[in-house]
Amino acid sequence: TPSRKPLMAGNWKMNNNHLDAILLVQKMAFALKEADYDAVDVVVLPPFTALRSVQTVIEADRYAIQYGAQDVSQHASGAYTGEVAASMLAKLGCSYAVVGHSERRQYHAEDDALVNAKARAALAADITPILCVGEGLDVRKAGGQVPHVLGQVDGGLDKLTAEQVRRTVIAYEPVWAIGTGEVATPKDAQEVCGAIRTRIAELYDGGVADQARILYGGSVKGNNIAGIMAQSDVDGALVGGASLDPGEFVKICRYRD
Ligand code: PEP
Repeated sequence: TPSRKPLMAGNWKMNNNHLDAILLVQKMAFALKEADYDAVDVVVLPPFTALRSVQTVIEADRYAIQYGAQDVSQHASGAYTGEVAASMLAKLGCSYAVVGHSERRQYHAEDDALVNAKARAALAADITPILCVGEGLDVRKAGGQVPHVLGQVDGGLDKLTAEQVRRTVIAYEPVWAIGTGEVATPKDAQEVCGAIRTRIAELYDGGVADQARILYGGSVKGNNIAGIMAQSDVDGALVGGASLDPGEFVKICRYRD
């Protein structure tokens, strides 16, 4: 039987300078108890400029909020002005890096091949990629969400070994649900998350599919998380707006209450 630990990841996007970040993480660390960390992996994803400060706060804490970056370069090092390498994130204690968020696909023209290269760069540095996939409203209206997302999964996982896919997190984030307040129904989330797990079983095997964690993202709040988490193939959430409010994010982490 699968024993996937739920994961709640807060994507702060381009919010919080390093001083704001210290305040927010301190509030979270104060509220979260040992039982919370036993029940879920709690992850924050601040802007690059706040990672060092977040590391300092978290190191001083008894229990572990984990943290990571919102993006990573596909390159290992070199003449890539403005980019941040996976090894640099690893050195700062990052456990995760988001790759292929819909905002990067949309505003920075990231395609599946680039997202795949970023996932491989993260894994090479022992960082868990959070690979984001999801359809836009046009695709959803036409009922094409499953083939659309599976195409992104195939592209995103290209050339990854079974061992790497076991460690990878996939976040299903329908673009029409991100930042809109329009959360997918639990049934819609399960349809696509279940199809992703079946695809992993086809590409690798059932054991790999049982271990890979699949998140839902898109307007998750304290008052809608429980129904989504009740779905058998949803292993957690990628949370944008609600992760900026420590009380709300802690509520999401305590979805069982
Ligand atoms: C996100 O950006 O990953 C996200 C899910 O945002 P929100 O929760 O604000 O919809």
